[in-house]
Amino acid sequence: MNIKENYPLSSLTTIGLGGPAKYIIECESPAEIKEAINFSREKNLKFYVLSGGSNVVFPDKGFDGVILLLRNKFQAFEVLEQDSDSIILKINAGENWDSFVKFAVENGYSGIECLSGIPGSVGATPVQNVGAYGQEIKDVFVSLNAIDVNTLEEKSFSNEECKFDYRQSRFKKEDKEKYVITDVTLKLSKTESPKIKYPELQKYISENTKYDSTDSLKEKLKIVRESVIEIRKRKSMVIDIHDPNTRSCGSFFMNPVLDEISYQNFLENAKELNPPSYKSGDRYKIPAAWLIENSGFYKGYKYMGVGISTNHTLALVNYNGTTTQLIELANLIRGKVFEKFGLKLTPEPEIIA
Ligand code: NAP
Repeated sequence: MNIKENYPLSSLTTIGLGGPAKYIIECESPAEIKEAINFSREKNLKFYVLSGGSNVVFPDKGFDGVILLLRNKFQAFEVLEQDSDSIILKINAGENWDSFVKFAVENGYSGIECLSGIPGSVGATPVQNVGAYGQEIKDVFVSLNAIDVNTLEEKSFSNEECKFDYRQSRFKKEDKEKYVITDVTLKLSKTESPKIKYPELQKYISENTKYDSTDSLKEKLKIVRESVIEIRKRKSMVIDIHDPNTRSCGSFFMNPVLDEISYQNFLENAKELNPPSYKSGDRYKIPAAWLIENSGFYKGYKYMGVGISTNHTLALVNYNGTTTQLIELANLIRGKVFEKFGLKLTPEPEIIA
């Protein structure tokens, strides 16, 4: 086992925050994951699985336990099945998500092109049912394998068993910290053209590219991927060491999804401001960025060493601050949004106490 002691978590997280971890163990296979879990048990320490480090905030005091680092170099994927219409691939959990999307696009496999430029690992995508510009991982998800941290048994979960919802799954709710995901199986199409649903993406593509419905699938996927990355870059949502706005966890708050009664109450409160909303089934999504901007905050708002990105209201950025300051800023924003609209914003990253 590759074990490091007192290792700074700030160097393993995209927001660059967090004190030292007592132990870091790099795991490159399910057997090593089990070994690392046993190591933490023997030492009577808690453990935490870390991959891309793009959706987690560790405390300034660090983590008095074992970090299982799944940022593996072991072989990326296995083709389980394919025919002329589709391909089913099993991808290791620790693989970089965007490298996999790039591979899929270059090979003409569709279904995840709108999920380009998202930081983090393949194994993290089902946990919060990652989605963007109208695509969600659940739409191409077949199954995953995971290790039960109590019994060390390997278990498989189908799409239905994962209980996917908007940015949710069982692994974020009832089974939080109960499993370590080791691989994910996805079914991608070899024939379906990308579905460009969101006006922001449609507009970018029509104004900046030569997208043509008669293009080959590979060409169309390439254009969609490049366009999504460009849109995300403009919002500083693609990790770039030269852009200080990307020292963040991406979106810090989830967009509230309201049932009919809560939505009507919200409208009653906010009608003069003409709030945007998007119907999703029988519920309504309210953009968290709009709520924040209408509660007295703005892009570039600073709070000690942290602040709101100058390019995206939903991203909280660490300039040279601390986790304590970040949490204070998040609570300030949540408090003001609640005071003004009666809505509770939920942080998207995992905040470790
Ligand atoms: P945005 O595009 O400004 O959108 C803000 C909100 O409006 C989102 O809730 C989005 O829904 C909704 N929305 C916008 N246009 C819509 C349409 N035509 N139909 C239905 N809903 C619409 O958000 P952003 O922060 O810049 O993020 C861009 C995309 O990346 C969004 O799709 C966002 O959800 C996604 N994203 C995902 C994650 C994640 O999975 N953890 C993190 C960051 C950003 P949706 O959320 O359903 O798209």
